[in-house]
Amino acid sequence: MTSTTQTKGNLTLISAHQPPATIQPGNPEMLGARSLEVMGLLQTTLDIAQQLELFARVANQSVPFDGLRFADSALRHDYLIGIEKAHQASYQLRDEEEDMGVLTLSRKRPFSEEELQRLENLLAGLFYPLRNARLYRHAVRAALRDPLTGASNRGGFHQAVRRDIELARRKQRPLSLIVIDLDHFKCINDRFGHSMGDRVLQEVTGVMRNTIRASDMLFRYGGEEFVILLSDTDLKGARLLAERLRRNIAALDRIDGVEVPVSASLGIAELTAEDDDGSLFDRADAALYLAKKKGRNRIESAR
Ligand code: GH3
Ligand code: MG
Ligand code: MG
Repeated sequence: MTSTTQTKGNLTLISAHQPPATIQPGNPEMLGARSLEVMGLLQTTLDIAQQLELFARVANQSVPFDGLRFADSALRHDYLIGIEKAHQASYQLRDEEEDMGVLTLSRKRPFSEEELQRLENLLAGLFYPLRNARLYRHAVRAALRDPLTGASNRGGFHQAVRRDIELARRKQRPLSLIVIDLDHFKCINDRFGHSMGDRVLQEVTGVMRNTIRASDMLFRYGGEEFVILLSDTDLKGARLLAERLRRNIAALDRIDGVEVPVSASLGIAELTAEDDDGSLFDRADAALYLAKKKGRNRIESAR
């Protein structure tokens, strides 16, 4: 494998197995015709994967390659188009102080100087549309996330439950839902203060995350109420998990060295043929209400 490093202006090419150096775009008004053409094409979408696919298609006509990888640092996401090969041209994309990620093109034979020049002109056209798509993606993610616990919020739940119901029906697989509400949470706030209340919410979220499987999805529905969506799980499976959740939450007796009594009540429901997202949630919520009525720190199933 070659290990040449070539620097031209604010673009630096490095070979494989070396950390990539930085590229920052020049003034957009100074972009060449080819870069502007790419930019115009990519601006038709705010979807990062679609932009990369469009870019790969156009770039491949100008500089043939086998693989394109974009490793997005902040969004913690890797995109790969094609197959990675030994000879690589890597560019770190940097927007002022923000590290956007590393874009790597690869193929079997080395890239020539002239090809790299062409590639860099194309990359200049990718930069601004990709930056906008990343900002958009970031905003969408932030809008669906609860900042206190890091869990998805109610908006995220409504999107996910509709999608999962459709999927469960299509695949003829079960789907269950657990609604969790902390017991006497108002007393925790009153006795230990609101910031301890916040810490309890964070710790309980951590306990639930550690209890569920990777395919289960946790949401903070509101205040001290959470929802877990269990794809491919029937009422019996949901009940087993709910019992583990109840036990693990109740075992949380010290937070930041302070003895705090924590427990939760849980209501569960399995999707039936008559359910829509609203009725599925309402049935689990009614079961939760029953669990509260029967004394809290317990589980009830919807009929
Ligand atoms: P129950 O066992 O019947 O559920 O009683 P509860 O006290 O948990 O229920 P209630 O709905 O009366 O009180 C919920 C409390 O949760 C009231 C509200 O101030 C508190 N709360 C909601 N969101 C937050 C939050 O983000 N942080 C803190 N610290 N408290 C919150
Ligand atoms: Mg409560
Ligand atoms: Mg509540």
